[in-house]
Amino acid sequence: MKGVTVIRHPLVQHNLTRLRDHRTRPQEFRRVLGEVASLMLYEATRSFAVRPLSVRTPLAPARGFQLEREVVLVPVLRAGLGMLDSILQLIPNARVGFIGLKREETTLRAMFYHKSLPADLSPFEVILIDPMLATGGSAVAAMDLIAENGARHVRLVSLVAAPEGIRRVRLDHPKLPIFTAAIDKKLNEKGYILPGLGDAGDRLFGV
Ligand code: URA
Repeated sequence: MKGVTVIRHPLVQHNLTRLRDHRTRPQEFRRVLGEVASLMLYEATRSFAVRPLSVRTPLAPARGFQLEREVVLVPVLRAGLGMLDSILQLIPNARVGFIGLKREETTLRAMFYHKSLPADLSPFEVILIDPMLATGGSAVAAMDLIAENGARHVRLVSLVAAPEGIRRVRLDHPKLPIFTAAIDKKLNEKGYILPGLGDAGDRLFGV
């Protein structure tokens, strides 16, 4: 699918399977989700713009690179929190914004309840973190808020995606690159991904 990168690295797939397993308890789920998030980040940031930079080693001049733009991480609450810490370990100087969205159970629509983002996102690389791309409602709502703040370089990291969610995001934000570990079969009647891994927030926090 155009604009969608499925990360098939064996460690990612191994960890995803651990997360899918219903026997994986919240303590282990948190740890494994963190691990898989770090692995996915390598792929998701591969195309970050860099600019050349010269430094001196203790022995000689050396050419290198530095990131062109600062990074803003935007986890969608609450499941996005499960991927945040480990990504922050890799990009410790990243800023962190938050978007709070809740699924309205009958309509499955994303209800917005919180936003804290830099007022101007245009100079940043923005990584939107929404572990389950199900109906696409929350990813689209989060992306709309990010776009309102002027973001120009955004990518979405979702551990598991449903075809329906990808199609929805593609409709509203056709250029948004999506990185995922799996494109699953479909949604069930409650909007959960099949086979998925259940409710990611519940699996993470035990409630
Ligand atoms: N949110 C989840 O946590 N799991 C799903 O399967 C769908 C949405």
